[in-house]
Amino acid sequence: MKARNTLCFLLLSMFIVGCSKHQVPITKRNQLMLLSKKDEVKIGRRNFHGIINKSKLSKDEDKKEMLKRVGLKLTSTINNKRLNWEFILIENDSINASCFPGGKVIVNTGVFKVAQNDEQLATILSHEIAHAISRHGSARISRNRILNGIEGAGVLLTGFLNPLMIIPFVMTYEVGTKNGIINPAIRMEENEADIIGLHLMKKANYDLSAALDFWNNLKNYNKRKRHMTNATHASYTIRIKNIKRTIAKLNNKI
Ligand SMILES: [Zn+2]
Repeated sequence: MKARNTLCFLLLSMFIVGCSKHQVPITKRNQLMLLSKKDEVKIGRRNFHGIINKSKLSKDEDKKEMLKRVGLKLTSTINNKRLNWEFILIENDSINASCFPGGKVIVNTGVFKVAQNDEQLATILSHEIAHAISRHGSARISRNRILNGIEGAGVLLTGFLNPLMIIPFVMTYEVGTKNGIINPAIRMEENEADIIGLHLMKKANYDLSAALDFWNNLKNYNKRKRHMTNATHASYTIRIKNIKRTIAKLNNKI
């Protein structure tokens, strides 16, 4: 009975996977999507309020003005009336920014240590906006749901065949999916956000070479940090090389 349930679950998962696709704008890549846009906005809103509630809003008017100016210039190129863009600067020294489904963007003041002008700020903002319009966060949740479902089915099947093998199965499965699926997928999405971000910068008439300045600034700032081969982000060197390639392609399109 258990085996039959497992089989039904696997067939159902395959059916769901086959039916639920989303096409990323610009790159036109199809990705697995189990979350509706409504659920995505709900989760995004919850995460956004979670961060805002425990953060201190910045009172630096110059930086806030710069953020709004660059953010609105970039988002004016996106034709999506459902998105209600808002740019919020919070007091936090770490170099981080995030864009939530629905159009809320949070930027840490730490970003200004490496984003020294409008064009460089546009680089990180366009990358974060690219993640949001590509629905990468929801794709990540969808992927994890499927992997967890398969793991559950695998545990059932293993328990049915040999209960002593459940723990080795779980350990092998989790390490294998992390190294073989989860981290490579995140690296691919990071690269995709860089590519889409550069397209947005170009549409907004920003000088694309500023993206290289921004990433070089970040590389210098973090020069003491060692990069792990299987990290979720490519090394700065690889990233800068890929960005150069995309810039060359975009500049040849004129
Ligand atoms: Zn990213």
